[in-house]
Amino acid sequence: MDGVTALNYPRTSGTVRGFRLFGVPVRLHFTFLILLIFLLVTVFGSSHQSGGNYAMFLLGLFVSVLLHEMAHAFVGSRFGVRTTEIVMFPIGGLSRMERPMRPTEELLTSLAGPFVNLLISAGLLGYLYSSHQPMPRSLSDLLRPTELGALPLLAGGNLLLALFNLLPAFPMDGGRALRALLGYVKPDEEATRIAAWMGRMLAISMGLYGLVAQDFLLVFFAFFIYLGAAQEGAAALGRTLTNGIPVRAAMITEFHTLGHGDTIRDAANLLLSTSQQDFPVRHGDQVVGLLGRNLLLKALAAEGPDAYVAGVMERDFLLIGPDADLSGILPLMAQAGRCALVMDGPRLAGLLTTDNLSEFLLLRRFGMEPVV
Ligand SMILES: [Zn+2]
Repeated sequence: MDGVTALNYPRTSGTVRGFRLFGVPVRLHFTFLILLIFLLVTVFGSSHQSGGNYAMFLLGLFVSVLLHEMAHAFVGSRFGVRTTEIVMFPIGGLSRMERPMRPTEELLTSLAGPFVNLLISAGLLGYLYSSHQPMPRSLSDLLRPTELGALPLLAGGNLLLALFNLLPAFPMDGGRALRALLGYVKPDEEATRIAAWMGRMLAISMGLYGLVAQDFLLVFFAFFIYLGAAQEGAAALGRTLTNGIPVRAAMITEFHTLGHGDTIRDAANLLLSTSQQDFPVRHGDQVVGLLGRNLLLKALAAEGPDAYVAGVMERDFLLIGPDADLSGILPLMAQAGRCALVMDGPRLAGLLTTDNLSEFLLLRRFGMEPVV
């Protein structure tokens, strides 16, 4: 990503820190934690003998999902695309990539995950078959504690993971593969719309089936697929609308700055008298900090109006170049209230905020051509 000099990626909201895997932060979404508790209660609440087996199976499944995500990250890195974060959702993991991919890159990267689950499943089934151990017979074996051991459950679970992820609908890997394939013959935006529409249809039919069959775990999954499809569709549409457009075209060029020796009172006056919410702080010609609205209010409450902005400003902020591709900047701006400073060499050329970025996207949707 050209022009980005400081890479502090925002995290997906609603998640807690998990751990790092080969340098990639793995975070747990709060809904994933709910599912985890639900499963633990199911396992330990059942008087069944094989609760321990089932717990082993769940642990193995968790590791399988991580291996699946690592495969995405590995193939992505072969194309020079870094994985910034892996988020664990109830319907599986989600790898966030640093930049949008070309169709061939997206196709291979998205298929790598399910491929790993197929490999694990084939390996386990081969082992069970050759050592004459019992095999999983049906889907229901996987959903509740049975007399089967952890390995046959894991073989079936991985097969299910692979097939589920290969469904050609957003936000599943198969949906990304479908979008990549459509991308060869259709405009990017249309390919995205079709994959997102497939995701919504899948979620609705799955949810309805779950309601009729009174399988509420299925309704729960359907809900996440629906949300994921909408989110993935919006993100992909954003990439399409910004692809090939430089940051320069969307940035704010008229803005106020604060001086290194200004007080919180000066900053508060600017907040009132302008519509600006984020103020770059200069020291001579240099930009040394950034003071956003929330930080300003916090400082006002904690230190009073006479404190210096230099003492409370953020020193670690997002710097981007005016010629950087907007589509690559989008993931960095995904968190509400973000503000990036656009630096043309040492000169502060503009600001990019989530608010003006969403206005830019809106105008693009209504057909406005960017002024470059
Ligand atoms: Zn995947």
